[in-house]
Amino acid sequence: MTDDYPNTQSIDANDPSLTSWVESANTPGIDFPIQNLPFGVFLRNDDNANKPAVGVAIGDSILDCSACWNAGLFSNTPCEDSNIFARGSCNRLAALGRARVREIRDRVSWLLRSDTDAIKGNEALRERGIVSMSNATMLMPFAIGDYTDFYASANHATNVGKMFRPDGDPLLPNYKHLPVGYHGRASSIVVSGTGIKRPHGQLKADDAPPTFGPCRLLDHELEIGCFIASGNELGSRIDVNDAPGHIFGIVLVNDWSARDIQKWEYVPLGPFNAKNFGTTISPWVVTLDALAPYRKPLPARADGDPAPLPYLSPDAGSESEAMGLEINLEVTIESAKMREEGIAPMRISHSSGMDLYWTFAQMIAHHTSTGCNMRAGDMLASGTVSGVNEDQRGCMLELTWRGQNPVKLPTGEERKFLADGDRLTITGHCEREGAVRIGFGECSGVVLPAE
Ligand code: MN
Repeated sequence: MTDDYPNTQSIDANDPSLTSWVESANTPGIDFPIQNLPFGVFLRNDDNANKPAVGVAIGDSILDCSACWNAGLFSNTPCEDSNIFARGSCNRLAALGRARVREIRDRVSWLLRSDTDAIKGNEALRERGIVSMSNATMLMPFAIGDYTDFYASANHATNVGKMFRPDGDPLLPNYKHLPVGYHGRASSIVVSGTGIKRPHGQLKADDAPPTFGPCRLLDHELEIGCFIASGNELGSRIDVNDAPGHIFGIVLVNDWSARDIQKWEYVPLGPFNAKNFGTTISPWVVTLDALAPYRKPLPARADGDPAPLPYLSPDAGSESEAMGLEINLEVTIESAKMREEGIAPMRISHSSGMDLYWTFAQMIAHHTSTGCNMRAGDMLASGTVSGVNEDQRGCMLELTWRGQNPVKLPTGEERKFLADGDRLTITGHCEREGAVRIGFGECSGVVLPAE
């Protein structure tokens, strides 16, 4: 069978004319056509003895890469010596590095295309290798060693600055010179569908001593996250031009935030407990290669904005320059009452990956500029992605302007911040003329009451 494999150079996994023998993948507008092929980790619901495995989303199903490896279908690829898919994370896969992951994705593309019989023509393998998403539970795609959250949307930073520092420039002097970030908490990152318990914390009204109790100003943050493929040695740096070669792929992120805890604790060292009680991510990691048709340079900086220092300036025409991501992002809310009354979730904002001031390549170059080491499976998140318009604000703090203009729900309820029972869902997709639309699935979570 291996003799039949095509030369990897002959594969274009993003070819818009490709179709799959998994029929659901050919439905126009679906998130997971054969041109996407994101990686994730799943568990079959029908098989108690089964262990988690790495899979690829295809239409409404999952290709079980471990079952395919066992059948010899990854011969002559960078993973032929070891079944790196028979695991509960994509870390080993990612550690191969982006170029090798691309070869593996190209093999998956070939296995799934309409005219390839390797799985399609083998009933037993088809049974084992293709799992309906309705018959699987998605798990965390990575064992995340380290997590860093940035603040890369100038629109968001400007809005927050206007609210909290009404006198003077809303952006602090460093903002346009370096990608501002903080070291987040990896242990509390959870996969879409996990409930988020309202945290307790220290709260302080302006005219009273601090108290301890449940957060009252719970918020979401619409973000995108980047998973690291191969990392760098401690003491070495990742050049901004090489940074795309270290990126595995992109997910949707909700950085749940307790604004009242944050307000009292954040000076002088930044967010701490306000951000460590839960961060939700979408389960499917869309590779940087799948995003190739949707990547281009960020808009030119405005007149008067400083040019980035050389270590943050990609070469003209380089892949690193084309790291603006044209991902259409949306947030919906569904209150418990809406759910009971059968009312569809309501869209509260939308923005784009192009609304960022810094790219993930620049964030990686800056993060490692000290010699700090990245490791496979580390996650960097963008910070709240807000556009320029009022309906493009990526968190409740901005949408309601600190609660001054509540969001009105179709039930007559109002939200200044999030209430128990609210379900927040982030979705994302890319589409343009001449390419096939691809999507990210969803990043969703319900607010559970404090205990
Ligand atoms: Mn954030």
